[in-house]
Amino acid sequence: MAAPDLDTDVLVVGAGPAGLLLAGDLAEAGVRVTVVEQLVAPTTQSRASTLHARTMTLLAERGILGRLGQLTGGGPGHFGGIRLDLTAADPAHPHAGQWKCPQARLEAVLGARAGELGVRVRRGQRATGLAADGDRVRLTVRADDGTSDQLSARYLVGCDGERSTVRELAGFAVTGTPATKEMLRADVAGIDVPNRRFERLAGGMATASRWPDGSTRVMVHRYGAAARPRAVDPDLAEVAATWEQVTGERIGHGVPVWLNAFDNTTLQVTEYRRGRVLLAGDAAHRQMPVGGQALNLAVQDAAALGAALVARLTGRGGEPGDEVGDEPLDGYHRARHPIGARALTNIQAQVLLLLGGPEVDPVRELLAELMRHDVARAHLAAMISGLPGPDRAHRHQRDGSDRASRPDRAEPVAGITRATHGQARERIRMGRLTDTTALVTGSSRGIGRATALRLAADGALVAVHYATNGDAARETVALIEKDGGRAFAVRAELGVPGDVHELFLGLERGLRERTGEAVLDILVNNAGATTPAGVAPEEVTAEELDRLFAVNARAPFLIVQRALGLLRDGGRIINISSGLTRFANPEQVAYAMTKGAVEQITLHFARHLASRGITVNTVAPGITNNGSPLFDIPEAVEQMARLSAFGRVGDASDVADVVAFLASRDGRWVTGSFVDASGGTLLGAAGGAA
Ligand code: NAP
Repeated sequence: MAAPDLDTDVLVVGAGPAGLLLAGDLAEAGVRVTVVEQLVAPTTQSRASTLHARTMTLLAERGILGRLGQLTGGGPGHFGGIRLDLTAADPAHPHAGQWKCPQARLEAVLGARAGELGVRVRRGQRATGLAADGDRVRLTVRADDGTSDQLSARYLVGCDGERSTVRELAGFAVTGTPATKEMLRADVAGIDVPNRRFERLAGGMATASRWPDGSTRVMVHRYGAAARPRAVDPDLAEVAATWEQVTGERIGHGVPVWLNAFDNTTLQVTEYRRGRVLLAGDAAHRQMPVGGQALNLAVQDAAALGAALVARLTGRGGEPGDEVGDEPLDGYHRARHPIGARALTNIQAQVLLLLGGPEVDPVRELLAELMRHDVARAHLAAMISGLPGPDRAHRHQRDGSDRASRPDRAEPVAGITRATHGQARERIRMGRLTDTTALVTGSSRGIGRATALRLAADGALVAVHYATNGDAARETVALIEKDGGRAFAVRAELGVPGDVHELFLGLERGLRERTGEAVLDILVNNAGATTPAGVAPEEVTAEELDRLFAVNARAPFLIVQRALGLLRDGGRIINISSGLTRFANPEQVAYAMTKGAVEQITLHFARHLASRGITVNTVAPGITNNGSPLFDIPEAVEQMARLSAFGRVGDASDVADVVAFLASRDGRWVTGSFVDASGGTLLGAAGGAA
């Protein structure tokens, strides 16, 4: 055989996250490595976007976590669409939970690290042939211009994805099951649909989430639709038609950024090593990308394989100079194959739970019931996070070998004693709000501020939301902290596109930073826009009506909808309406209409959420001193005071105390209710005269 054009220790095919992490690890250990990649330039598309705890640790260990920039929490996680708090795997883990990071950004950072360590990536080259050559393996690569090169190495690794050429060329045996279900997926700009987390609707499953750039990722499946072989990706028309069938919403006018379809074909190679050829990531196991496990599994495979190859090639792992043989490489297969197999099983189970029609509902119900137990939750969360499960953790503890996590017990973390769900519920039962969390919208001032102060005084960690008045919000936080309470400010203007998404990004980040998880116990929808006085019904413009509805009705609805994934069972939702829904004031008709809508949120969600023990109530203030200059004018106050049966205007704390009652354990038997907190305004004027 003619001398190759290049000879090295390890050839890696595929410059995705697995290939780049592996190449960097090898180079760092002094192993010569070359990467071959068929794409001419790194892709800017992000197939995956979620990092789990074990992956975060691997990146931190390599000193590159910080280079990914500020990562936002990816919400609580799910199992087949059933809420699963991934921090349950190990609440004390420094990266507990899941984190959002576009795959393109991860690849850029891993690529930069590999480059700094001297790794060469040969782009625009496709592997076309493979042959054994003594103690070497020979790879033929062809460039786009048709020229071929011969590369040789002691080992070849296929990190070239689910359609792996290396797997084909090396003749790996595979087992698996063919596709039965398919999901359409698209990133679409210029559409405004509500965020949804794996919402199972009558005809199918839909999920939507807004990216920071304003485009929206939608995924949709119509129950019963069989997977079909596809030569090309779907077009927007097909995705939009299915989306409309399932959700009733139109997205066909949007601009597609990325479109694809994926199915639940399952496949795993029987051996991760065949002589001098090894596989890692999707090349070794193909699965439906449900729950963001594929990327994490791939990175974890690559890290394990890197260690094995370093041990093999440098003799490290045995005595100095010791010939360790192939044992590390066989060890790689023995360690990672069962983990991959287990992941495929859990992913198939999730596919059935998520994309099965109404016939899977009883299984979902039972599983959700089991998942309310700490041990079951910890078991599933550990499997997905790549961490030792509770069984192993307990075993370690018995051995005394590890200060392993005890997901069923509170662990002190960075000065915070974090309780498990069960314990937090216990605290609510005791009548205090210790270890609970609350979001009060519009709590920079007025009734919202008084509510935030009161809930914090009762022990809740409060997210103080505001739109523009940052100073006032910080003052609310400072007032809470002065009294030993805990709070943080979150900005988001409501009533504008992307509002609720922005609110929850800040909320989840704030909660995660302080408690390690994004879980909410209490939601108070208080923020509200009002109309100027003295506008006759004839003068209300369509624009004004739209603005009021956007802030006062649409936003609270979407906030409730979005909060469902964060709210703990047994939680509380309190919507602030107004006595004006029962008391005619023609100048306020538009405002009152929006508040009427808010009361409908209460009515219907109370029924909807009762099975989770979540109460939903309306509190309707009358005229309440919110600190506005109007309340500095004695004559005005006197006139307003006459509306209350008690002959005074309300104080913000009068309303806050009612909210606090509904939020407390004492309010547990009240749901779907309209609570008048107007000082008897609806009874008629004080002294009998209006
Ligand atoms: P307020 O003093 O006027 O304060 C309004 C709060 O809502 C502020 O925190 C404000 O944030 C926030 N907010 C307003 N528009 C917003 C928007 N577009 N996006 C995000 N946040 C926004 O309010 P209040 O008088 O205490 O009223 C609180 C609630 O009670 C409202 O729902 C109101 O309709 C209802 N209510 C009040 C009375 C009363 O007499 N006060 C009577 C009946 C019902 P910034 O500080 O950043 O602007």
